[in-house]
Amino acid sequence: MLSLFGENEITQNESGFSFADIILPVPIPRMFTYKIPRNLSSEIQIGARVIVQFGRKKILTGIIGKVHNKAPQAYEAKPILEVLDERPSVNPLQIRFWAWMADYYCCHIGEVMHAALPSGLRLSSESKIQANPDFDRENAAYPLDEREEKILDALENQEELTYEDCEKILGIKTVTPILKSLVAKEAILIFEKVQEKYTPKVETRIRLREDLAKEKKALEAIFEQLSGKEKQESILLKYLRDVPVFQKPELNEKGLEKATILEEGDSESSLKTLIKNGIFESFKVTVNRLQEVEPERVPAQLSPSQQEAMSQIKAQFEEKQTLLLHGITGSGKTEIYIQLIQEVLESGSQVLLLLPEIALTTQIVSRLQEVFGSSMGVYHSKYSDNERVEVWNGVLSGRFSFVVGVRSSIFLPFDSLGLIIVDEEHESSYKQFDPAPRFQARDAAIMLAYFHQAKTLLGSATPSFESFYNASQGKYGYVELKYRYGEAELPDYFLADLGADRRKNLLKLDSTRLLREKIQEALDKNEQVLIFQNRRGYAPYIQCEDCGWTGECVQCDVSLTYHQFTEELRCHYCGYKEKIPTSCPACGSTQLSTKGMGTERIEESLSLLFPEARMGRMDLDTTRNKYGYQRILDEFGSGQLDILVGTQMITKGLDFGRVTVVGIWDGDRILNFPDFRAGERAFQQITQVAGRAGRRSEKGKVIIQTRNPDQNIFAKVIAGDYGSFFQQEMVERRNFFYPPYVKLVKITTRHADFKTAEKAAIALHREMAQIAVKKIVLGPEKALIGRIKNQYQFESLIKLDRSGATQTTFKEKLAEITEELQARPEFRSVRWIVDVDPS
Ligand code: ADP
Ligand code: ZN
Ligand code: ZN
Repeated sequence: MLSLFGENEITQNESGFSFADIILPVPIPRMFTYKIPRNLSSEIQIGARVIVQFGRKKILTGIIGKVHNKAPQAYEAKPILEVLDERPSVNPLQIRFWAWMADYYCCHIGEVMHAALPSGLRLSSESKIQANPDFDRENAAYPLDEREEKILDALENQEELTYEDCEKILGIKTVTPILKSLVAKEAILIFEKVQEKYTPKVETRIRLREDLAKEKKALEAIFEQLSGKEKQESILLKYLRDVPVFQKPELNEKGLEKATILEEGDSESSLKTLIKNGIFESFKVTVNRLQEVEPERVPAQLSPSQQEAMSQIKAQFEEKQTLLLHGITGSGKTEIYIQLIQEVLESGSQVLLLLPEIALTTQIVSRLQEVFGSSMGVYHSKYSDNERVEVWNGVLSGRFSFVVGVRSSIFLPFDSLGLIIVDEEHESSYKQFDPAPRFQARDAAIMLAYFHQAKTLLGSATPSFESFYNASQGKYGYVELKYRYGEAELPDYFLADLGADRRKNLLKLDSTRLLREKIQEALDKNEQVLIFQNRRGYAPYIQCEDCGWTGECVQCDVSLTYHQFTEELRCHYCGYKEKIPTSCPACGSTQLSTKGMGTERIEESLSLLFPEARMGRMDLDTTRNKYGYQRILDEFGSGQLDILVGTQMITKGLDFGRVTVVGIWDGDRILNFPDFRAGERAFQQITQVAGRAGRRSEKGKVIIQTRNPDQNIFAKVIAGDYGSFFQQEMVERRNFFYPPYVKLVKITTRHADFKTAEKAAIALHREMAQIAVKKIVLGPEKALIGRIKNQYQFESLIKLDRSGATQTTFKEKLAEITEELQARPEFRSVRWIVDVDPS
């Protein structure tokens, strides 16, 4: 669909065109053509929000995606009703990017729009009722009953009514059937009232009456007047302390926030009296939610090897659009980013720095803030909508020319990006799995940079195999940082054999003797320990020792996870939960035991083994609220905790000087990933978590507990031999047709009825086999989890030749096929989910 925006792309002042294609939030895979009424033609701009009628009864808000002079053939275009934006909320580059994304990831441009706009900028709807101007009451085809007549009477006096109005008019609670009947008789129209959701933050401030701030005498008189009224006097004194009006009278104009005055416990009623007597005046201002922070330092002096890397990056950017910076953990990639960012900003372009999950990398954000202050926007996944709108508007207004953000920040309204940095580019959280658009933010960022003619820098200690492959093919530039900054060295590794310890009776609560010894050594020296396990909760499941019963979710084919703290069994897929049974529901036995190891259980085991150690835990359960993550990090950073147990969350970008021991609780679990990426992921995870150890002068130790210490991957990780591990895995990928040698598309077929789901999946398979491109179609197979939320699922996996033409043809045909299948009555409620580059 890119061609849509090709030759005749229009940017400014689109008057003179007769039609506009509107992106609407409806699940139909295209834009809709509307007529541009002459009186609106000067207001029409690409990216502006408009109101249009959709179908016979709906009024919707959409965004102008394109303007042209071609009347639609299949239907007569309706006019645009209203233009909402004087200045478009969205620029033409963004729309081009949306169109690319919809095309590439096989979804609807309306879905991309929905993902792109912070919900504060989307328009909320509230249904209203209006008389249908075409309705002839006298000669109605169907008779109206008394209540219906009443509504129409009301609409003669009032242009629109809400549901509540109708309830009052009729004196009843359920008006919907009556309104439905009126709609069916074409007597009324129901429309959605658009309403801006974003609400600016308003602050109440206090200032001294103007003349009092200027004339000392007048103020003295006031003090005399207040003598004896201590409470009022105290407020006045406090104000003068914070706002020195005699040194700087101009400060009085800005005044002081009311909440600040009252925060030391002064009485609100005394303040009110002061205002009533005209000594103070109270006023309101709209303020930024985003805090103002002044820069505190200049960028660090780069080490010689960092400097060398920096000049290589610049040299290679002369020729390549994208570059991979492969720097071991602790090599100082962030300092290099800082210098590059500063240079690009000085040249007048914008910069976007993507981070995997910003909540997980607060440390980096504060490091950047030290240099860039509040000229840097932060786009957080845990920010409120209003805060997100402020970042969005800050980019529009030019307040933020540099933004640090999570994957959705690729949708911000940049108009002149010079550089995009994707930090930890191998991270799987750059992929959005659900809902559509199912995009990979790293890949999308490279495309976005291309639209801006900007550069992309991918940074990682353990690059994704795709990126490394592209670099080795010369498609990307490649720069390596082989040394840690300063005196820090990479840690030593130890493999702790779980099987051997079990045979010798040395295992205690699933910990090996070696791990216990290393932890104890660290504790004795007052150093800190990180324990990693990629499974949260207490134990994955609970099982009956007598009959083997395990708690299963009632809606999904998975076992429930045991959460000790809440005494519940919970489904991690759908959220279903139930109380822990006291006896086996199948056989009545009371011998229920917990199997497997989650972070919560490990925390408990370690507290028993090291009763004197102060324990903390970081996983999804302990970091649900906005500050949970920060709080645990602060506690750990300030030395209030000795041991921190955590999931993947502790592997990312943390930089703590006192961590000397890292324990990997279950090294085998990391390898048991049911995917062709198992090896790649394991290499990344172990290297990353190990990289948290010994980041200052003390050398770190990494202990991996495993039943298979001879696994080849451990040897490669320990040797830090990324290159030969990559080569070895590539042979397999090539032989078995996996990325980067092919492109994958996964299609999931879903339905509540098993037979229908299966039939639909087979029908799809048959049709796909006919598409004449170079490909392999696997499946359909029952999905790994056969049923989720009572929907059965089948999966097909398609391996496509890497050529662009193959992919385009396949995707176009696929869209036709699913549309055709969906039209068959038996498959009407089947859902097809297309996932391009699924992992
Ligand atoms: P990476 O992101 O590659 O893992 P970091 O950027 O976190 O590495 O750097 C590791 C540590 O070394 C940090 O504490 C950082 O402040 C410090 N560091 C790196 N480069 C410099 C430099 N040029 N000057 C001062 N400190 C540096
Ligand atoms: Zn479930
Ligand atoms: Zn039982």
